This record gives sequence, structure tokens and C-alpha cells, in this order.
Amino acid sequence: MQKSPLHPFSATIMAWYAEHQRELPWRQTQDPYAIWLSEIILQQTRVAQGLPYFERLITAFPTVRDLAEAPEASLLRLWQGLGYYSRARNLQKAAQMVMRDFSGVFPQSYDEIIRLPGVGPYTAAAIASFAFDEAKAVVDGNVYRVLSRVFAVETDIASSAARGVFTSLAQSLIPMQDPATFNQAIMEFGALQCTPSPDCSDCPLRVSCAAFSEHRVAELPIKSKKTKVKEIEMDYLVIEQNGQLLVRERTEKGIWKGMWEFYLIEDACDWLPFQRQALKSPPVHLLSHRKIHCDAWYVQVPDNFELEIPEGYGWMSPSDFESKGKPVLLLNLITDNLDCPILQDISPTYL
Ligand code: SF4
Repeated sequence: MQKSPLHPFSATIMAWYAEHQRELPWRQTQDPYAIWLSEIILQQTRVAQGLPYFERLITAFPTVRDLAEAPEASLLRLWQGLGYYSRARNLQKAAQMVMRDFSGVFPQSYDEIIRLPGVGPYTAAAIASFAFDEAKAVVDGNVYRVLSRVFAVETDIASSAARGVFTSLAQSLIPMQDPATFNQAIMEFGALQCTPSPDCSDCPLRVSCAAFSEHRVAELPIKSKKTKVKEIEMDYLVIEQNGQLLVRERTEKGIWKGMWEFYLIEDACDWLPFQRQALKSPPVHLLSHRKIHCDAWYVQVPDNFELEIPEGYGWMSPSDFESKGKPVLLLNLITDNLDCPILQDISPTYL
């Protein structure tokens, strides 16, 4: 391929990247499956937190077939702690689609990759460029920040126009001869150098950065829309009888579908006439649109008492419950109350 001259911005960030890049396992490969797995994990997770999950998942499911055929429960169990469980479910649906519609061969172009469940324009561009050298620019929050500052782009990044504006700018900067390195470089530059509160004094783009020269670094990117956060109360009873716990799998639609939990208090619980011992409340749990407050109590039901079991719940041994996938909120509740013996038995073996 004939080389076209690099835009000075692209040349600078690629040179910076050569010196500053972090060594990450998914950067040592062009295997689209491994790259896809890492990108899905990193969608709402920091690199340091995602790294051990990537290692565990790629070891448990080394090929797209292994992932497609895995029991959903074992995937959710390995995903436990990462949150946003719909990502894990979509991962498996996509693996099944690769097996069914692409004869087990990971699709090789942006237009095909974007058809996979859970894969949006950013992830499709990342996979297509890293694995197949397709010149598709990635655009995510980091890219918005870098480009809006360097080129003084005033488009509101929360607006519907933002993706188009920033994608065409990034697309005009991506070098045909090495799109993968450009994409890695701009993302890494946003993650490590041009951070929300950057240290511009050692930035190689300082001389050409519009935000820096106009003293507008703190102002850009412009983001107007504030997400409305809904406050939710979720209170649990940890009910024990004969060394077993009363638990259930969440079957209702939502981000915690397929996760396991203790008895969720929805009414006055008159059916349980026993004294409750208050447990320590886990910290307020923040999801993208929700703020969850949780209180919890422990109740030991006498061995010979015939308890009327609420619909959907059942008894389970602590070790079986330990092996089930649980929302982070519950994991926090458990680890904050290890002085309660039965909770000690179900404390997570890793996190
Ligand atoms: S000078 Fe500052 S604002 Fe501009 S690109 Fe560098 S780190 Fe970002």
C-alpha cells in the first residue's frame, strides 16, 4: 500500500504511544476473539479491574466455540463482580451467532462484526482495525476528549450529532497504512495523558493543542445533558434454617437477570415472626441510572419451624450459593458482614 503522509496529530500520538503504551495481553494478539472479549470486558470497566477477568475468561473459554457452548451459569459466575451482566449474555449470544451464521469463523469486516449482539460502532471499529487492519476509527469518551481539546470542537458530546462529528474527524486522521496503531494510540493517549484533569506540561501536543493555547482545557469537551439518577431501596433478609439459606435466582428482565440473591423484602414480612439482627449496610451502589440503598438483616429460623416458603425462593447450602453469580451489591453485603458465620461461608473466593 502506498504510504500517505501522516497528519502531524497522528504522527505525534503514534510516537507517544510507542514510548508510553501499557503492555496488555490483548495487544499482543491479532486474534479477533481475544480482542473482542477484551473490548466487551472494558466497555464499562477500567483496565486494572478488567485484566484478571480477561485472563479467567480466556482460560475458561479459549475459543469462540467454548464460549458458545458454555452453560450460562458458569459464564455469569466468572463474570461476577464486573456488573452490567447483559454484556456477558450478549457475549454468549454473539459467540452462538458466530458459530451459526459464520461457520465458527469470527467475522472479518466492520460491517459484519457490528451485527453481533452487544457490539456497537466503537467495539466493531476496534476489532476490525486491531485484528484485520481495517481503517475504521474508534470513537469513545477518551477520543471525544482528546479531539475536542486538540481541535477545539465545541459539539456537545451528549448530543445526537456528536458521534457523527467526532467519527468523521477521527476518520480523516486515521492513517490507511497503520489504522490499528492509530486507534490504540488515541485511546491510550486519552486514558493516560489527556485525562479529565490532565498535566499539560509534559504533553507532546501542547504546541498544537487549541484548548491548551486558549486556556480552555477544563471547558472541553462540552457535555450538557445530565443523566437523571433514580434512587432505589433494596432491603434483604438473610434467612437461615438448618444451615441452609433462603435464596432465589432473579428471573425478571433487567441487568441482574440470572443473578442470585437473598430474600428481597417487598412487604411487611409478617410471615416471618422471628427477631432480626441488623447487618451492616453495604455502601450505596451506583449504576449508570440508579443509586441503590440497601439495608439487610439476619434471621435464624428454628430448625423445627415449618416456614411457608415464598414463591420463587428455595433453600440452598452456603457452598452452592457461593458458587452462584451474584450482583456486586450482594458481594459487598457479604464481605461487609463476615462476622455473621453463615456469610463467612459464602464470602467470594476471588474479587
Ligand atoms: S495539551 Fe493538555 S489538553 Fe491538550 S492534548 Fe495535551 S494533555 Fe490534552
